[in-house]
Amino acid sequence: MGQKIDLMEKVVNLCKRRGFIFPGSEIYGGLANSYDYGHLGNELFNNIASLWWKKFVQEREDMVGIRGPIIMNPKVWEASGHISNFTDPLVECKICHERLRADKPEEMEAHAKEAHKGKTEWTEAKAFNLLFKTFIGATEEDEKAVAYLRGELAQTMFTDFKQILETSRKKLPFGVAQIGKAFRNEITTGNFIFRTKEFTIAELEYFVKPGTEDKHFKEWADFMEKVLVEDFKLKKIKRYVHPKDSLAHYSKGTVDFHYEFPWGWDEVFGLSSRTDFDLKNHEQLSGKNIRYKDPETGEELLPYVVEPTGGLDRLMLAVLLNSYEEIKGGRTTTTEAVKEEEIILRLPKALAPIKIAVLPLSRKDELIKPAFEILHSLQKHWMCQFDETGSIGKRYRRQDEIGTPYCVTIDFDSLEDKKVTVRDRDTMQQDRIAIDELVNYFKEKLP
Ligand SMILES: [Zn+2]
Repeated sequence: MGQKIDLMEKVVNLCKRRGFIFPGSEIYGGLANSYDYGHLGNELFNNIASLWWKKFVQEREDMVGIRGPIIMNPKVWEASGHISNFTDPLVECKICHERLRADKPEEMEAHAKEAHKGKTEWTEAKAFNLLFKTFIGATEEDEKAVAYLRGELAQTMFTDFKQILETSRKKLPFGVAQIGKAFRNEITTGNFIFRTKEFTIAELEYFVKPGTEDKHFKEWADFMEKVLVEDFKLKKIKRYVHPKDSLAHYSKGTVDFHYEFPWGWDEVFGLSSRTDFDLKNHEQLSGKNIRYKDPETGEELLPYVVEPTGGLDRLMLAVLLNSYEEIKGGRTTTTEAVKEEEIILRLPKALAPIKIAVLPLSRKDELIKPAFEILHSLQKHWMCQFDETGSIGKRYRRQDEIGTPYCVTIDFDSLEDKKVTVRDRDTMQQDRIAIDELVNYFKEKLP
C-alpha cells in the first residue's frame, strides 16, 4: 500500500514539475480541487479526447457527434429528474462516495456492513442538489433567472433527438456523442484530478429499438473494455456491476469499468441502460412529438438508450499512473552514462504530448540553423519540442520523463552526410536517418 501511495505522490510531483497539471488559481492560495493543465497536460488531454472520439465515433458507421451548451433551458433538468432527485438530505460514504438519504439510518448501516465490513465514515447531512445554480441576466432574487450548469452531457442528445434524426438520416440503432465540461457540486472531492466539481466527460447515447437494449448493452461493455486495454493500454481493468438498489434514478442497469488506482479499484468508464426515461419525460414536459418513425413499418416509437460514458480527466490520471516507470541507476548506454534514478513515461505514442524532440548537439549557429529547419518541417505534422541546453544524456532524460517517443539529434556529421540520429524512447535504439527521409520515416512510426 505504501508503495502505491508513493506512486501517486511521484506522479503528482512530476505533473507539477514538468507542467502537466498544477493547482488552479495558486497565486490566490488556490481553490480546493481545482487544477490547471499546462502545455503538456493540455496536449495529453487533447490526445486522450481525440483517441476516444476516433474509437467511439470516427471508426464506426453508426455514430454522429454534437456540441451543446453548458447552460440549457432549466426545464431540461426538470424533465431529466435532476432537480427533484437531488433535494433530499444526503450523506456520502467517505470511502466509496455512495450517497444515501440521511433520514434512512438502516440503509447507511446496511451499506457500511455490505461494502466496508461495517466500518465507514459519513459526511454531514446536507440538503443536496448536485446541480450548480447560476443566474441569467437579472438579479439573484428573480426566480425566473435561475439556470443550471449541466450535470451531464446526455440531455442535449435527448432534447435534440428529433433534429439529429432529421439531419443525420440515421436509422436505429445509432448513437450521438459529445465531449465537454460537466459540473457536479460533489460533497466529497479528491484524489488529485480523479474527482473534481468541474470535469470533462465523453458521453454517448446509443438509441435502440425497445427490447434490444440488453444485447447492445453487452456489445458496448465489451467494446469499452477493449478500448481501455488495447488503445489506452491500461493494464488492469475490472468490471463492477451496480446492485439494482443503488442505481441512478434513470438507470435499468449499470456497469463500471474500474482501473486499479493507488487508492484502490475505481471508475474510469461507465455504461448505463437508460430505457426511454429521458425521451419520455422530455416528450411529456415539452408537449412535442419526438418519436422515431420506423422507415419500414411507419410505426412511431420512443427508442431505448444505452449510454457509454467516460471521465476524461480521470482517464488521464489512469494513463499517467499506468505509464510511469522508474529505473534505479538509470539506463546506461555508451552515449548516456546515467547513474541516477531515471523516470520514463511509457505513454502510448498516440497520447504522448510531444512526439519528437529536436536536439542540436552544439549551440553553434552551424548546427542550430539546420536543427530549426528540421524542427519546422516536423512540426507541420506533429507537436515537437526544441532543446539545445545541457548534455545530450540530460536532454534525453528530460524527454523520457514526459513520454516523448523520439529524439532527433543533429551533430557535426549531419552537415556532411545530411543524416541525423533518431533515438527511440523505449528501446533506446539509435538509427541514422537521411534528413530528406525524416518526415516519411516518422509517418510510418507515429499516428
Ligand atoms: Zn461506501
